[in-house]
Amino acid sequence: MDQPLPQLDQPTAPPPAPEAEHQHGALHDAHGRTIHDLRMSITDRCNFRCIYCMEPTDRFLPKRALLSASEYIMIVDAAITLGVRKVRLTGGEPTLYPVLDTIISELGRRNLDDIAMTTNGSLLDPTRAARWKAAGLTRLTFSLDTLREDRMTSITRSKTRVSDVLRSIDIAADSGLARSKINVVAMRGLNEDEFADFADLARERDLDIRFIEFMPLDSGRSWNPGRVVSESEIIESIEQRHGLEQRDSQNLHSTSRDYHFKDGAPGRIGVIASVTRPFCGACNRLRVTAEGAVRPCLFSNTEWDIRPLLRSGGSHDDIVRFLVDSVWTKQAGHGIGRDDFKQPDRGMSAIGG
Ligand code: SAM
Ligand code: SF4
Repeated sequence: MDQPLPQLDQPTAPPPAPEAEHQHGALHDAHGRTIHDLRMSITDRCNFRCIYCMEPTDRFLPKRALLSASEYIMIVDAAITLGVRKVRLTGGEPTLYPVLDTIISELGRRNLDDIAMTTNGSLLDPTRAARWKAAGLTRLTFSLDTLREDRMTSITRSKTRVSDVLRSIDIAADSGLARSKINVVAMRGLNEDEFADFADLARERDLDIRFIEFMPLDSGRSWNPGRVVSESEIIESIEQRHGLEQRDSQNLHSTSRDYHFKDGAPGRIGVIASVTRPFCGACNRLRVTAEGAVRPCLFSNTEWDIRPLLRSGGSHDDIVRFLVDSVWTKQAGHGIGRDDFKQPDRGMSAIGG
């Protein structure tokens, strides 16, 4: 027998934003920020169980709880009406989503500035990469936290090898997609002795390697401030081997601080210091989870369930209104380190990083 769909344990619709907010065709929040970037999780399923993200015991949503390709696209269309120019597909592992190609093709028809996807790099082959590129995908971001095979197994709790992900990174480069980025979650006791090795990799293969501070978004709740390796420690560790110089940021909304090598070698290093140098004031993002929870912030403890609206015949204008109201509730900042900080109930794989 069919189980009822899981319900969000919160009110499903956001409170109305001031009426003036519905007049200018943009996504503004109450703190003066404008949203241009939609991060859409298209599945909560994953073939990895990275220790900083998911527990082996985590359960997935029933398939019919996930939005369909056309439901995702209805949200994207409303977001585009409201000025969104960039869409990132994420998950879970988005390359597991059965109709991923349909979603990429639909996005490709919509004249966006950037269509990106974050992946663990375990399921890429040249045919898929070529198809996605032809359909309009701009670029891929890969996650890789170690260059040592034994550590790869214990971090991802999967059988995928470092060499598989490196091969996928090469496939992306050969397919003509824009330069890939590589995300490395920096965790004390996990990989802090490998930062300079990653810098070597960036130099050898001309890659953009971005270290991300470990955030309290692990479903196992093992996060504590002592496990965060700060931006300054990451840079110091690399500088013991290679001199770095900070690059001028061309993007006001960039979450990473970027460096190039002083000796002019190819490759770049970035650090996303969400914990020690929050960039909430410049945040221009909105997130939607795989089952349609609209999350104004990665750390939201309030989210708005758009699925009932989508499944009851809501019009384009209704969805536009829902997004404007949702964004108006975006919190000022994540509040990590404050006494009243509360880690979200969802882990990163159920939100979409
Ligand atoms: N499965 C894909 C992947 O791993 O690239 C996409 C989804 S994953 C949730 C998106 C990004 O979130 C990855 O780069 C991952 O490293 C990052 N991430 C997951 N949990 C994190 C945490 N607790 N702190 C910082 N980054 C995290
Ligand atoms: Fe899966 Fe990505 Fe989370 Fe790893 S980080 S468990 S690959 S969703």
